[in-house]
Amino acid sequence: MGQVTDVFIVGGGPAGLAAAIAARQRGLRVILADGAKPPITKACGEGLLPDALAALEGLGVALREMDGSALRGIRFEDERSSVSARFPDAPGLGVRREMLHQRMMERARDLGVTLLWNTPVTGLHEEGVVAGGNKIQARWVIGADGSHSRVRRWSGLERYVVERTRFAFRLHYRLKPWSDFTEIHWAEQAQAYVTPVGSLEICVVLISNDANVRFDETLRRFPELLRRLDGAPHASSARGAATSMFHLKSVCQGNVALIGDASGSVDAITGEGLALSFRQATALAGALRANDMEGYQKAHRRLFRRPRLMGNLLLLLDRRSGLRRRSMRALERAPQLFERMLGYHLGESRPLELATAGAVFGWRFLAA
Ligand SMILES: Cc1cc2nc3c(=O)[nH]c(=O)nc-3n(C[C@H](O)[C@H](O)[C@H](O)COP(=O)(O)OP(=O)(O)OC[C@H]3O[C@@H](n4cnc5c(N)ncnc54)[C@H](O)[C@@H]3O)c2cc1C
Repeated sequence: MGQVTDVFIVGGGPAGLAAAIAARQRGLRVILADGAKPPITKACGEGLLPDALAALEGLGVALREMDGSALRGIRFEDERSSVSARFPDAPGLGVRREMLHQRMMERARDLGVTLLWNTPVTGLHEEGVVAGGNKIQARWVIGADGSHSRVRRWSGLERYVVERTRFAFRLHYRLKPWSDFTEIHWAEQAQAYVTPVGSLEICVVLISNDANVRFDETLRRFPELLRRLDGAPHASSARGAATSMFHLKSVCQGNVALIGDASGSVDAITGEGLALSFRQATALAGALRANDMEGYQKAHRRLFRRPRLMGNLLLLLDRRSGLRRRSMRALERAPQLFERMLGYHLGESRPLELATAGAVFGWRFLAA
């Protein structure tokens, strides 16, 4: 047996790095391995909402405005209506995945995490993992290896419920952002997310229910957006991904725990995947320190509840275009309701306030 550690993390994406940082903050020895080599990227809307930034701050990850582009709020647009809300307190940040990865990696390295890149983990054994062909002994193993997690399979945590899967493409354009809001453009069973990620760069994600989604074809369903992007050079190549709503019955088994997309995920439409991972990381590190995996299981369930509820509500609007048009019209007439819903989405208001906003919305909806 070679190295020995308290915590071994499989996967060095945002969830794995967040878990590594949080565990080191609590004094645990951490080794992290990823099969890929930085800069690591992924198809993503690249919007960090204010709650994600606050969670990152708690991990000591310092992102500056110049690392990306400040986001002041969210705008929904469809064929007929446009409704927007500013973030109630602090701004969010649109930031390229490579930059987020770089900043998180720097923080992990400064805290003394052992980072093994180009090192795939090929199996678990009774006392730890097999990484890059070597056995490493670990008290705890964390699966942060994404939505197709092998750690999940190896540890028998496969029993999961898939609520919905959709298909996405991401492409960057070299273009001065026309807005400091994240925009979600709605069309028939498809959305386009537009996030400024720099002074001269925009990230566009197209999501559809069609597994054969093609970027150019889908973009044509958003004529206003197509007009704005017309002639702008591409700043990356198109990258595809699936986005799913799924959750597990359990995220811990023995000395193994799952985090991030490996432990369940919410549809990209929520813009909450990253914030969720960062909050899970803090909960997980606290549970490891206290030797209380059951505590992590409970915290994980609680943290998942709000983004899952919002994801299901937004996907209902995707499935039912009549309902979506009417809701947009109602919100356009009462934008303060949209602000209150956004406040709930960001965890800044309570379920009761959402219910009150929902009741008022019901009246507006009937009149729309
Ligand atoms: C289209 C789309 C748009 C999105 N937009 C947003 C958004 O705007 N805002 C937001 O907050 N969230 C968004 N999300 C969600 C967000 O991207 C994910 O929640 C986030 O990437 C999850 O991070 P992760 O670390 O769990 O997984 P990943 O980012 O998938 O990282 C997993 C890592 O594990 C490594 N790995 C896998 N297997 C092994 C192995 N056997 N050994 C070693 N390493 C391994 C991989 O190389 C990878 O680096 C979006 C998702 C999609 C699909």
